[in-house]
Amino acid sequence: MSIAPDTSTAARALAAAGDQDSARDVAALDLAARGVDRKLAPTRLGIVERLMFGPAPSVAELQSGAALARSVSGTEHAIVAAALGSLARGEAFTADARLSAALRRTVAAEKAFGYTVPAAFGGASASYGQLAAVEEALAANGLGPLAVELSGQLTIGAGSLLAYGDEHQRRTFLPLVAEGRPMAFGLTEVGVGVNAKKIQAHVEEQPDGSYRLFAEGAANKLWITNAVHGGLIAIAARVGRGGAGIGLFIIELPAANVTRDAAHDYEFRCEPSGVAAFVANFNSRLHFSNFPLSAASRIAADGVEVLFYCLRMGRCMLAAMAAGYQRMLARDASHYAQQRIGVGGPVLRHEIPRLNLGKMLGGALQAQALAYLSLQQDADGVDLAGLRDLTKTAAAGAALESMHACEHVLGGRAFHGGSRVNDARVNLHLFGVVEGEDDLILMGMVRDVTQRFVDRYLSPLLGVIQSANASPSGTKLDESERILRLGFSSLVRHPGRTLKAFARLCVQPKVWIIDVWFLRNALADLARLPLRLLPAAAFARYRAVAPPLRRYARYAERKLRSLRWTYFWLSVFYQLELTRAQIPLQRLGKCIEHLVSMLAICHHASGADSSVREVAALQAQLLKDKYRAIRVLSGLRAMQQTRRAVAAIGASLEAGECSLLDGIEPQDFGHSWEPPRRRAR
Ligand SMILES: Cc1cc2nc3c(=O)[nH]c(=O)nc-3n(C[C@H](O)[C@H](O)[C@H](O)COP(=O)(O)OP(=O)(O)OC[C@H]3O[C@@H](n4cnc5c(N)ncnc54)[C@H](O)[C@@H]3O)c2cc1C
Repeated sequence: MSIAPDTSTAARALAAAGDQDSARDVAALDLAARGVDRKLAPTRLGIVERLMFGPAPSVAELQSGAALARSVSGTEHAIVAAALGSLARGEAFTADARLSAALRRTVAAEKAFGYTVPAAFGGASASYGQLAAVEEALAANGLGPLAVELSGQLTIGAGSLLAYGDEHQRRTFLPLVAEGRPMAFGLTEVGVGVNAKKIQAHVEEQPDGSYRLFAEGAANKLWITNAVHGGLIAIAARVGRGGAGIGLFIIELPAANVTRDAAHDYEFRCEPSGVAAFVANFNSRLHFSNFPLSAASRIAADGVEVLFYCLRMGRCMLAAMAAGYQRMLARDASHYAQQRIGVGGPVLRHEIPRLNLGKMLGGALQAQALAYLSLQQDADGVDLAGLRDLTKTAAAGAALESMHACEHVLGGRAFHGGSRVNDARVNLHLFGVVEGEDDLILMGMVRDVTQRFVDRYLSPLLGVIQSANASPSGTKLDESERILRLGFSSLVRHPGRTLKAFARLCVQPKVWIIDVWFLRNALADLARLPLRLLPAAAFARYRAVAPPLRRYARYAERKLRSLRWTYFWLSVFYQLELTRAQIPLQRLGKCIEHLVSMLAICHHASGADSSVREVAALQAQLLKDKYRAIRVLSGLRAMQQTRRAVAAIGASLEAGECSLLDGIEPQDFGHSWEPPRRRAR
């Protein structure tokens, strides 16, 4: 792989470790993410990075999310009241449990579909904070599907036009969006999911500057939420078949399918995707062949960059919805537990059901705290890297645990067809996959928050290892000959190159910069040590937190600071291999997620009433327990054993040798496609 000058350190490290496929894909995705950074031009480093590497954020900053939540509280009333009126009249859902046209008309009259669209385009000019309040309240009251629809409409839908559309595109399409015309964003294809830069749909430019769109077969757009006949869509497609650039085109979909005939030289089909989640919403598979697009439909930006830009708000809205869903679960489960007589009296009297209810409420508070903190950080021009990702993973994870907890309180009735608890299940499962799959974005989050540290302090070290993998003629060595970790085993296998690399480490001044970092940080931690004897109340920083929550806030901050050492030692241990070591990175990501969540909850609940502070105290304790259960450095040997066992299973599956699968035919996939032929290794 030839390395472009602006290739990210992560992609370079992957290439150096011999993983060319991942290096290429990561480099392409990083480029799109960098475009978003340039557009947003944040004025402050991300809060997660500062919590780990310093300087610590102020108390006012940590409590800014709670202030936002208070300021928007109540503004959602008109839309939510209209929607609940429709629900009470029994007209919100159709007989086949889909959102009804009557409900859509009712909320459209309150400008719900153009809520965050500026008034100049017919919208309500509301902030994303206000939208979060709507999302949460709808999901809390059994209208989660409407919240899903509005989120798609206003984040990846209208959000893409507002941020990247030109004046003509905004004037043409935003008023339609504000009226309630559904708007979708179409990136995913039958053959391409998370690896967004690999999409195959393409446009061919015509001599008059217009385009023809081809999204055929495996390049059909799949699972596109809000895509419906007559709706609007921002659709991502490669410019030219196999072209390097990914364009984005805003179009109005035809009101009906089109087949090629005397009147039409193109095809279009919009069909239900058949997915069994988001079942109350429009969700479609789209086919285009030679489909005409005007020159004016092209949005002047990279399609994946636009998606990444919009996803940051999408993730905040998903967290707000997750908060609402969990409050709904807690409401229904607590009502049941009060009514239902279990062994020895009402279910609610017993400790385990109470713990489960506490988990639902705590998960709701966690999702709420993170959603509003992220939104305020974004509004304040802070880099959202790190926080936007863990906000989503924490909210989706907590929501799924709450679903489980709810099932254990409600028993069989949690599965009653048509109940809102039962209906919530698939959507809450899906929250872990849409807007970025949780584990992938957690690992991306670790990369984002450590990138500056790696660039500044570790890249000279990695450079030395890379140079150990170059042959005397300067070409790269074969993968089997590569050194990924300098240590005893590399000394035994490749003594000459290992000793040379160690010698370089000793004499290269650039590498010593990490020693300086080490000493400075070790001394700073040593100086902090005696302060641990003082109670939290001795520090102005923690006096701003409600007394029962102080020790959790302090614990979370201390442990987040110590995670910089965890990352340092992981880097020293794994060296170049860390590019492939997903298990340690995912575990570190979970540690960060739990601790930042704990801190956010403490600050969010400090100004709330005592019932909320009690929920916060339980959730903070549960998060602390989870954090303590994850062993990263202290479990390095065990983790290596796990990784070896995982590698062995992967290899046996690749070779088709796992006998537990003998005698079982795999089921055909929905929406099949032809996998690319594997290259010989
Ligand atoms: C109901 C629904 C609504 C949706 N709405 C939209 C929409 O409106 N617009 C749109 O464009 N898309 C939409 N999507 C698509 C959604 O974003 C994708 O499902 C998602 O991006 C994952 O793609 P995939 O399901 O094809 O997974 P795949 O790409 O096939 O991946 C399968 C699994 O492999 C994992 N994986 C892949 N690579 C790695 C790696 N290097 N390391 C570790 N794990 C890896 C992934 O994390 C994933 O869990 C929707 C999907 C659903 C189901």
